[in-house]
Amino acid sequence: MRAFRYARATDPGEAAALVAGVPDAVYLGGGTNLVDLMKLGVLRPGLVVDVSGLPYDTVAHRPDGGVLIGGAVRGRRLGLDEGIRSRFPALTRALLSGASAQIRTQATVAGNLLQRTRCPYFQDTGTPCNRRSPGSGCAAIPGVHRDLAVIGTSDACVASHPSDLAVALAAYDAVVEVRRPDGEQRLVPIHELHRLPGDTPWIETVLEPGDLITGVHLPPPAAPSATYRKVRDRWSYAFAVVSVAAVLRVEAGRVGDVRIALGGVAPRPWRLWATERALVGTDPGDDDVRAATRLAFADARPLPGNAFKLDLAADLVAAVLRELR
Ligand SMILES: Cc1cc2nc3c(=O)[nH]c(=O)nc-3n(C[C@H](O)[C@H](O)[C@H](O)COP(=O)(O)OP(=O)(O)OC[C@H]3O[C@@H](n4cnc5c(N)ncnc54)[C@H](O)[C@@H]3O)c2cc1C
Repeated sequence: MRAFRYARATDPGEAAALVAGVPDAVYLGGGTNLVDLMKLGVLRPGLVVDVSGLPYDTVAHRPDGGVLIGGAVRGRRLGLDEGIRSRFPALTRALLSGASAQIRTQATVAGNLLQRTRCPYFQDTGTPCNRRSPGSGCAAIPGVHRDLAVIGTSDACVASHPSDLAVALAAYDAVVEVRRPDGEQRLVPIHELHRLPGDTPWIETVLEPGDLITGVHLPPPAAPSATYRKVRDRWSYAFAVVSVAAVLRVEAGRVGDVRIALGGVAPRPWRLWATERALVGTDPGDDDVRAATRLAFADARPLPGNAFKLDLAADLVAAVLRELR
């Protein structure tokens, strides 16, 4: 058992003051990821500041159709929100496809976005991992990497991001609201929150020390037709092998607007910008959608054990757009 200090913040200013100048301080949401990693010895914070009781626990629907979801909102609560279910169905589906009811009851929105990779080598302190232990190497590249990323990777790291919620948020063009330690607010598009590994895989997000996620803005949905589909090794309680969130508007039989994001393929939710551009204005069949999806993988660097994800992703996008049309 390794000792650490625990403090519960009652307001955001207090949270910032508690972590200020303490390099090994971390925020605690529901603890479902952080505490697991502390037990495994992967993370060894000296101070844990509980921010789950801060007043960011509401889901506020706006007259324009947008929503502000508080960072401390629990997954279960968000999954039951009728306004989200009716107007952002991909988000509800993504959320309910993740983890278990027990974990969702405890986990927060902010913690979900910042959960760490499930790469087995990251979680195993007995193996090299540049993300956990800079400069030690990447055991996943020559090792077991079936569930890891095929695009956005580097020679230093091939970890994938595990969040389902983040994939749906990417398809809905969500913006993350961040409170800096000095109280200033910063807005970070979800596509920019997570950094690609490059030579510094241990720097996972654009957040700076003391930054607190206070909420997520959802703009009014681009189209009512949307879904989330997740391929996994068993029907529940499993992370995505590949998942897709898609929002589609069809106009006179052609794609008027489409937003597609994938999970399980990259170190962050992977938006298929090239695919979307190729599909708008067309009346695509399955093969056209598959070809358009492959465009977005032009820079993919699959490994022998996970190259199958390229075909799986193309098939999944085709199936989901067929369902939505
Ligand atoms: C068995 C199991 C199966 C799972 N399956 C899935 C799945 O299928 N899909 C899926 O998406 N997830 C899955 N998860 C992961 C789960 O969703 C996450 O553990 C959870 O969302 C993390 O939220 P939390 O509030 O508990 O975060 P915590 O564990 O409290 O924190 C996670 C990280 O976020 C930081 N943090 C927390 N709040 C803030 C804040 N407000 N501002 C800044 N930093 C903050 C913490 O410092 C920490 O680094 C699974 C987990 C388990 C244990």
